[in-house]
Amino acid sequence: MKHTKSEALYKEAVKYIPGGVNSPVRSFNSVGISPIFAKKAHGSRITDVDDNEYIDYICSWGPLMLGHSNEEISKGIGEMIASGTSFGLATEIEVEMAKLIVDAYPAIDQVRMVNSGTEATMSALRVARGFTKRNKIVKFEGCYHGHSDGLLVKSGSGTITFGVQTSPGVPTDIVKNTLVCKYNDIEDIKRVFEEDGEDIAAIIVETIGGNMGIVPGKQEFIEFLRKICDEYKTVLIFDEVITGFRLSYNSSLEYFGVKPDMVCLGKIIGAGMPVGAYVGKKEIMEVVSPVGPVYQAGTLSGNPLAMYLGKRNLEILRDNPQIYEALNEKADKLEQGIKNNLKKLNLNYTVNRAGSLVCLFFKEGPVENYDDAIESNVEKYNAYFKEMLDRGVLIGPSQFEAMFLSYAHSDEDIEYTITCNYESLRAIHN
Ligand code: PLP
Repeated sequence: MKHTKSEALYKEAVKYIPGGVNSPVRSFNSVGISPIFAKKAHGSRITDVDDNEYIDYICSWGPLMLGHSNEEISKGIGEMIASGTSFGLATEIEVEMAKLIVDAYPAIDQVRMVNSGTEATMSALRVARGFTKRNKIVKFEGCYHGHSDGLLVKSGSGTITFGVQTSPGVPTDIVKNTLVCKYNDIEDIKRVFEEDGEDIAAIIVETIGGNMGIVPGKQEFIEFLRKICDEYKTVLIFDEVITGFRLSYNSSLEYFGVKPDMVCLGKIIGAGMPVGAYVGKKEIMEVVSPVGPVYQAGTLSGNPLAMYLGKRNLEILRDNPQIYEALNEKADKLEQGIKNNLKKLNLNYTVNRAGSLVCLFFKEGPVENYDDAIESNVEKYNAYFKEMLDRGVLIGPSQFEAMFLSYAHSDEDIEYTITCNYESLRAIHN
């Protein structure tokens, strides 16, 4: 497989763009090869600038539940563009979109649209702080909530209570209010609340950890978060930027049966457009400007084109529950196929799956938190990534990303992927 044009573009790109990319993971730095540049994509397939075609399991990192360039979603977008791309005024479609989200998430009452998942989590925390008049927040090791200052904290040895920033440029004064707990560890949360509970505004959590590979939250863990938030009058925020409308149409609400106070959304609600949203109970959302004193705004928030595509995506998912069944079946087939391959090859690696999110960890299980995940054999994963790419299967260029399945992935795609998985694993263990 040749990547001549991608390589040439990369050389040019690094002159003008830091690392040649507008988001670090696209650089393929973690797998040590030059990145591929995308040209077009349709259904489950993506084509690079050298005209290599791949079965795509990145799927734009999650927004494309129905696959790439779905005509059902984009039908009519030309007329929308012709009637104006942004108005700076309220529009009808924003009301329709908000209603659609509230109907899918009966635990919440109101929606504020923003432009990314990062904005959604950053704003939700400001609102939770404004509502509770408290400063501290709790996040979990290995959970990613975008790149705002206070959330760029993953912690590490010796920094369990007060967060240490993961990135230079983040002031220590800001992250001192970010308390970091171990994922799936109830005792750790108890400890932090015993020390600081009266000043904790919010717990923010990925109900399925999707940024340390796939690490599902345990049922009792998610239930405990609800319990302790009730006890301390802390706001429980589910960051469902990945899982929202993916686990099911009712997202984590149905999957865990636990009601959060606020939810952060992104990805699927924009169908590939730059969209996020934070949503919550009315009494909390009433602190948001212009009703209340907590300021948050956006020139392009609720952009009509983004609302149009996102709304079509959600309507199709709402009206076709069989999509979720089919997706789960596809993901189950992939999971079982990979597990069979591991058995045949006598490899004791681990497959974690939640709905249509799948992850092969290059380590023995169980993988239940960040510490488990980072023990994976990253060199082996990187070699595996290259083998899969050469066979025309594009997976995340990092051990710590999910495989995103879409409804457009056919049974043949899954079967071919399982075959490539076998061959690639065999190749790197010879
Ligand atoms: N929250 C979660 C769970 C995410 O996975 C991401 C991004 O992948 C974000 C927030 C940030 O979203 P965005 O990249 O749209 O800013």
